[in-house]
Amino acid sequence: MSGLKKIAVLVKQVPATENVKINPETGVMMREGLSVEVNPLDLHAIEEAVRLKEKFPDILVTAVTMGPPSADKAVRYAIAMGCDEGVVLTDRAFAGSDTLATARALSAALKKLGSFDLILSGERATDGETGQVGPSVGSLLGLPVLTYVSKLSVGADKLDIERAVEGGHEKLSSPFPALAVVIKEINSPRLCTLGGKLKGRKSDIKILSFADLDIPKENVGLSGSPTKVVKVRYPQVTRKGKKLSAAEDFDGAVGELLKVLNDNRVEVNA
Ligand SMILES: Cc1cc2nc3c(=O)[nH]c(=O)nc-3n(C[C@H](O)[C@H](O)[C@H](O)COP(=O)(O)OP(=O)(O)OC[C@H]3O[C@@H](n4cnc5c(N)ncnc54)[C@H](O)[C@@H]3O)c2cc1C
Repeated sequence: MSGLKKIAVLVKQVPATENVKINPETGVMMREGLSVEVNPLDLHAIEEAVRLKEKFPDILVTAVTMGPPSADKAVRYAIAMGCDEGVVLTDRAFAGSDTLATARALSAALKKLGSFDLILSGERATDGETGQVGPSVGSLLGLPVLTYVSKLSVGADKLDIERAVEGGHEKLSSPFPALAVVIKEINSPRLCTLGGKLKGRKSDIKILSFADLDIPKENVGLSGSPTKVVKVRYPQVTRKGKKLSAAEDFDGAVGELLKVLNDNRVEVNA
């Protein structure tokens, strides 16, 4: 018997590359033309929600994302993994939102969608990488925020978790509702089945726009974002590399390598 009835999973669509460029004028990431994927760390949050649903079939799992209309692919993927439904929060009014404005919009959407007993988020997004959105959503909703969750089990009226701390793990309990930020240690995300993929593709995705939320316009978008990007600089690579080709002159290349190591006072024991 579990006290859990509704779970929301926060899922972000991110560029499928580590080479995200920043617009030096606006300080905003340039996402145009990049192929996208579900934030890899969010797959662990989805997996945990689906495992809870498998254990307690009455649970309804809703995947929620904020992004452009095409971010529906992220929630469709979550459905393909086993979530019940997906919601995309999308509107020009949200463009330029920083982590606080994103969290304001997401928390207002979650309120609108009904009362969730548990909200799961990934540890951080691989593009923005702040790790702020999950805890901010929990805090804005006035929920207990459980971070670095590496194990989670549910009882009739509480959550029992383990969280990774320096040098070990800490055990905690929390009442529902709560927000848990999971880390990748918690599980191994499953691959989608063909049936799951078909369900994800065919599902009706609920779209929420700014007008659906009860928040002032000045709380979202660029103007509602207190983060000011002052300057963006790329690190200068000052090290010079040299390639030694051993294919044509093995002894010469090894000799040159030994000389470099010797010049840099690296001891070599042959
Ligand atoms: C001035 C400024 C302008 C910006 N303008 C834009 C813009 O126009 N468009 C844009 O896409 N980004 C924009 N960004 C980036 C945007 O703020 C971040 O991508 C976003 O707030 C998430 O932060 P993060 O990537 O650090 O996520 P993290 O805090 O690292 O994410 C942690 C977890 O929170 C959840 N989460 C995070 N974001 C979302 C989401 N969108 N939907 C659902 N769950 C989520 C996921 O579970 C994720 O694993 C801007 C940033 C700044 C500073």
